[in-house]
Amino acid sequence: MQSPIQTYLEDLHRRIAGLDRGALASYIPELTKADPAWFGICLVTLDGVAYTVGDAGQPFTIQSISKPFVYAAALADRGRDAVLAKVGVEPSGDAFNSISLNPQTGAPLNPMINAGAIATASLVAGDTPEAQWRRIESSMSAFVGRAVGVDESVYRSESETGFRNRAIAWMLKNFGIIDGEPMASLENYFRQCSVLVDCRDLAYMAATLANGGVHPVTGQRALPAEHVERVLSVMATCGMYDYAGSWLYEVGMPAKSGVGGGIIAVLPGRFGIGIFSPLLDEKGNSVRGIEVCKQLSRDFNMHVFSHAGQPAMALSRVYTGADAPSRRQPGADMRACLNAQAHRIKYLCLHGYLAVDGIEYVIRRMREMAPDTHSFILDMNQVAGISESAARLLNQARLGFAGDDIAVVFSRIHERAGIVEPLSRSAHAGDRGCLCFEDNDLAVEWCENRLYGAAAHYADTAGSLADSPLFQGVPDDLLDQVEALTSVQVFASGAAILVTGQAGDGRIFFIESGQVSILVPLQNGGHQRIASLGPGMNFGEMVLLGQTTRSASVHADTEVRCRILDKEAIDRLSEQMPQLKIALLENLALDVAGKLRRATQWIAALA
Ligand code: GLN
Repeated sequence: MQSPIQTYLEDLHRRIAGLDRGALASYIPELTKADPAWFGICLVTLDGVAYTVGDAGQPFTIQSISKPFVYAAALADRGRDAVLAKVGVEPSGDAFNSISLNPQTGAPLNPMINAGAIATASLVAGDTPEAQWRRIESSMSAFVGRAVGVDESVYRSESETGFRNRAIAWMLKNFGIIDGEPMASLENYFRQCSVLVDCRDLAYMAATLANGGVHPVTGQRALPAEHVERVLSVMATCGMYDYAGSWLYEVGMPAKSGVGGGIIAVLPGRFGIGIFSPLLDEKGNSVRGIEVCKQLSRDFNMHVFSHAGQPAMALSRVYTGADAPSRRQPGADMRACLNAQAHRIKYLCLHGYLAVDGIEYVIRRMREMAPDTHSFILDMNQVAGISESAARLLNQARLGFAGDDIAVVFSRIHERAGIVEPLSRSAHAGDRGCLCFEDNDLAVEWCENRLYGAAAHYADTAGSLADSPLFQGVPDDLLDQVEALTSVQVFASGAAILVTGQAGDGRIFFIESGQVSILVPLQNGGHQRIASLGPGMNFGEMVLLGQTTRSASVHADTEVRCRILDKEAIDRLSEQMPQLKIALLENLALDVAGKLRRATQWIAALA
């Protein structure tokens, strides 16, 4: 089953690839060599998984996307106040190459325009320009998660033609913003713009910021935590130049674009996104990149200001049908089948408010488990709600798994509108809807039946006394004598066959056809089902051990046909045939031991 996140991204890529507006950046001659068709998208989760589509491995120069990362290094090296004294944090609303300086101090308005970035490059630690370059390179490498290199021809191309940037650098020197040699800082700035990355690298850089400054795969801290929000703030207000306001309004993620065609977007605490497509609009932002972010934000409610609960807790635990079987007492064939196969039923206890990132994690875990899974039970008891987009992905996953013959069923969503409605609204046409059970026991029993292929089995098979666990090992001729003492009774579906607390009348029941549930009454007036029984099984046999009141209620789930035997009759017969009594007591002991073992397993699984 392909991840629905992957399917979504492939679909998005296909739709947006048709967009061919825009032009390659031409003011740096070397950039005109890019292929306008290049287009990659990568989304990285906070536990480091990358979903990639298209030309995700195509290297290109990072250009202005280097700016927030060099700003990060300057903050880490000089501290907030020293950096603020040289470079402001006000959006200029101007183009990236504008000369927007504070009229009083001469300080560039923010570090995302070229003037601010060139000043920032002069601020990172290092006694010489070479040492400062090594610092820039190592800082960017920590964000990417590998050592990065420079595209020398792009660097030379820009350095030979970057007259406007050269003018800006001299101006910064004039205002005392750059202390040292301005041309050396400018060359470092050109080099940082020529660092080679692919859009996967960008997504990891973004994910590192989303993850509070720690690279999600290497675990290396790229930036002290207290500076992360500063970097994200200037990205949010200034990252898209004179498009920044509309961007925040429509997309709502701190972002940065570069004239190489890259865009990064950060959803703090949740995702990092990298996109590459070199066709640019008049403001120097990737046309397809913007469109991808708009649609992602809309389809998955990724706007930073939209609330999304706490998705990280989405999956609280996983166990299997072998750890916690249903409370039904299966017949011998089915028990053998379940002993071998019940681990292929997986329970997932979901937790909290389920948004896209939480559900992405859940689906990913399900896909990992899929090769060894026959059915998934999603226990929704602890789920507070589910977003529309998460419900849509979950439904897509359910259909995808169904295609691989893996069932996904829900338990405990009864009458919970915050879960049921988003799930049913996003069910596809032709989808028969999701299967929901009132409790885990009913759900796992359904899964066990499916495993055993028993849905049909129950309806069609007829049990006889010989199948009953109580009469195992009893010779046929003796069994015939027992059978002669029985009477047959048919109970309508829904009938109460036995009631808890009722005086035991000595009747023992053998199911010939149909299914019953064994129920114990609860404080709140409801019932807890502790087992269900089918053809060939017996109930009420505890009277043989001298029990005088019924300890549980028995309800007919379907029309049930039983053979009924009286304790008195058995006692009379075993006076003549003591081996009958011995066999019965032996079988009872075995049965009770089995029930005890299952109860113990349950207690362990619940602990
Ligand atoms: N190196 C480019 C410049 O300084 C970066 C511009 C950009 O990516 N917006 O002009």
